[in-house]
Amino acid sequence: MKKIDQIPKTFEPSQEEAAIYSMWMEAGAFRAEAPSDKESFTIVMPPPNITGELHMGHALDNTLQDILIRWRRMQGFEALWMPGTDHASIATEARIVEEMSKEGISKEAIGREKFLKRAWEWKEKYGSRIISQLKKLGSSCDWERERFTMDEGCSHAVREVFVRLYEKGLIYRGERIINWCTQCKTSISDAEVEFEEKDAAFYHLRYPLADGSGYLELATTRPETMLGDTAVAVHPEDERYANLVGKNVVLPIVNKEIPVIADTYVEMDFGTGVVKITPAHDPNDFEVGLRHDLPVVTVIDEKGVMNELAGRYQGMTIMECRKAIVKDLEEQGFLVKTEPMKHNVGSCYRCGTVIEPRVSLQWFVKMKPLAEPAIEAVKKGDTRFVPERFEKVYYHWLENIRDWCISRQLWWGHRIPAWYCEDCGETIVSRKDPTECPKCGSKHLHQDEDTLDTWFSSALWPFSTMGWPAQTPELEYFYPTDTLVTGYDIIFFWVVRMMFSGLEHTGKAPFRTVFIHGLVRDAQGRKMSKSLGNGIDPLEIIEKYGADALRFTLATGNSPGNDMRFTDEKVEASRNFANKIWNAARFILMNIGDNPVELCLPDMLEMEDKWIVSRFNSLTAEITDNLEKFELGIAVQKLYDFIWDNFCDWYIELCKARLQGENAAGARQVLVYVMTGMLKLLHPFMPFITEEIWQTIPHEGETLMKSEWPKYDAFLNFPAEEKEMERIMEAIRAIRNRRAEMNVPPSKKTPVYIETAFKPTFERGAVFFERLAWARSVDVGENFEMDGAVSIITADATIKIPMEELVDKQAESARLSREKEDVQKQLDGVMARLNNQAFVSKAPQKVVEAARENAARLKEKLVLLEQSLSAFG
Ligand SMILES: [Zn+2]
Ligand SMILES: [Zn+2]
Repeated sequence: MKKIDQIPKTFEPSQEEAAIYSMWMEAGAFRAEAPSDKESFTIVMPPPNITGELHMGHALDNTLQDILIRWRRMQGFEALWMPGTDHASIATEARIVEEMSKEGISKEAIGREKFLKRAWEWKEKYGSRIISQLKKLGSSCDWERERFTMDEGCSHAVREVFVRLYEKGLIYRGERIINWCTQCKTSISDAEVEFEEKDAAFYHLRYPLADGSGYLELATTRPETMLGDTAVAVHPEDERYANLVGKNVVLPIVNKEIPVIADTYVEMDFGTGVVKITPAHDPNDFEVGLRHDLPVVTVIDEKGVMNELAGRYQGMTIMECRKAIVKDLEEQGFLVKTEPMKHNVGSCYRCGTVIEPRVSLQWFVKMKPLAEPAIEAVKKGDTRFVPERFEKVYYHWLENIRDWCISRQLWWGHRIPAWYCEDCGETIVSRKDPTECPKCGSKHLHQDEDTLDTWFSSALWPFSTMGWPAQTPELEYFYPTDTLVTGYDIIFFWVVRMMFSGLEHTGKAPFRTVFIHGLVRDAQGRKMSKSLGNGIDPLEIIEKYGADALRFTLATGNSPGNDMRFTDEKVEASRNFANKIWNAARFILMNIGDNPVELCLPDMLEMEDKWIVSRFNSLTAEITDNLEKFELGIAVQKLYDFIWDNFCDWYIELCKARLQGENAAGARQVLVYVMTGMLKLLHPFMPFITEEIWQTIPHEGETLMKSEWPKYDAFLNFPAEEKEMERIMEAIRAIRNRRAEMNVPPSKKTPVYIETAFKPTFERGAVFFERLAWARSVDVGENFEMDGAVSIITADATIKIPMEELVDKQAESARLSREKEDVQKQLDGVMARLNNQAFVSKAPQKVVEAARENAARLKEKLVLLEQSLSAFG
């Protein structure tokens, strides 16, 4: 135990937190063993990207996880928090390409092998940065188990999953329309497209009928794609066009005949009920094309430039071509009109470039058979969402899911384990790299150039990190995991994919609860973003206020699924709270001095002891219950109120008299008992300062973080004493308020007469009135006759204090008279204006209204002053 003079006056997080973290690491306090006699509790960390630096989103996500894991660990669970990082193929590759371009090198110039060498070097250099930042936050992960989505084990799991799904016919390669980013030059999945409503133009065109009998009118937002039209379509039940189905129209500019087809995809009452069909450049048209066996004519290349099939528009960008073609259509009489409209445009989530639907040869996962069990698992309640409303988002995504395009035209990632035979064209997918074609024996094989979507490996994270496909003790003991903590923005990116992958490959849903949190917004409620420059760096906050203050702030604002606002004032309040506890601890240590303290409650408890012990006991039950329900924000608010108000502002004050008397040992015991309990309840939220204080005050055991979570104890429930103390506290509060209203200085002590039906209670509490209500003497009775007394009434007592004891009658009466005159003068002025017809009719409504309100306020004040004055009469 440290001596009081060794303890600094304030807690300096920037100096202490790192040392405390090292102490935990050295003690192996984050380690979770498999198997163990205890019950397991597991959280897998959503792996941050190796390109990442800790932002507020991470800080919130990981604070919530650490709160849950520390709490469960203290409850006696074998608690594993599995950490790791994600290779983030598209983001990382973009960063490396960018870095290389500064040196004037392109990835094509150095080739795949050298590029990957660079990528690994980059990973070694920056991949650990975010991990060290997570440590600063206090994250109690089992770092010995840290994983990486491209490490040997995870790569093995990826290969196994690919081969299994391929063998089951759930992975296939085909020509399909996919989302293409012309900037990143890769396909991206539906989940990675961000839609936003933008201003667009709607071009009404006319296509002449081939037999010269007239024309069909239709409208499009993308006139340049008409070069790739291979049909126009109408609804089969649309009587207006029934006789035209089967005829041909002449495609303007191209001068090619294309058929009029009937398909239910067309909405009869939208526009003219006729649509152009461009299978190569629109996902819906692609489906129509499949149904009607239409040719696919691609006119835009992978860079977003018009290709050789675009005729004289070849070489133009999409926008250049659009302009040119609209002009030509107009000149040739095919443009009917142009009208502005709002249009949903999809952009790449990485770079913001408008997505080009594009037909190409890609690898896909067949989703329908995988989606069904994932929907079922939530319907059955194997996995639940907190808050429940996010189940809808989950169902919606899975019910409308299309096949997942998993191939990416990138180098950084898991290369697709498929080989092609150059002699017979056979495709070989296998667990081991093949050396010859199983069909023709040829040795001329080459591997697919593409890599897998990043989410293909992160989808396996809950079980690949446990050693799957091997049946390891970890997988047996820690899987399925308990709680997944994540933001609502990645339910479909990640949660959905982990769900169906877990069910498909392990037969079990990967987690019991998905705890969804919102975003951290700035003080004005705006999303933090680079472009707005309103991001708050959590590392700066940690540096300035400490990780505890940051964590406490993030937890305080948390309610499941909802966004929160982050302000400096809130962090300051959290830091002040930390200081308050620090000061309380110093007070306790000062009063312990060299005396030994027994680490239990004393045999004899006073009324105030029973009050605080009983309050603490119920707090324990409440906080535990709140945590079980993921109500972290409510839990932390209750803790704050108890520690600040009940313990620091009341109990410590109530104890002060005893600490100087005969009975000090008991008071010291209760102080240490409640302080220790509070530190335990607060530990998951503020791990550093609680550990530091616990190490300083009398304690048993090695660390607070490994100590036992307090349990509700029916023997420590003292409702009668709680009620008694509340009666006394209410009366003390009332006296303090009245004295403040009357400007009575604290030095002025008065006799206090208490009329009450609860005589014994108030007699026992007399000492508190002396210390906390500046009572010179306390008399408790049923009826005190006195003139000119100030009466203070509470639910259980009437307190009387002789007026002349509170104030100097003459001086006060003079002061009140002066104030009365002053208020009267002000009122006269306002009334003069209000009685002036010109003012009332000409001044702005607001000004008149304000004057009326002011007059009413002054009148009220005058009445109060008159009442006070008459009391001296
Ligand atoms: Zn992009
Ligand atoms: Zn072959």
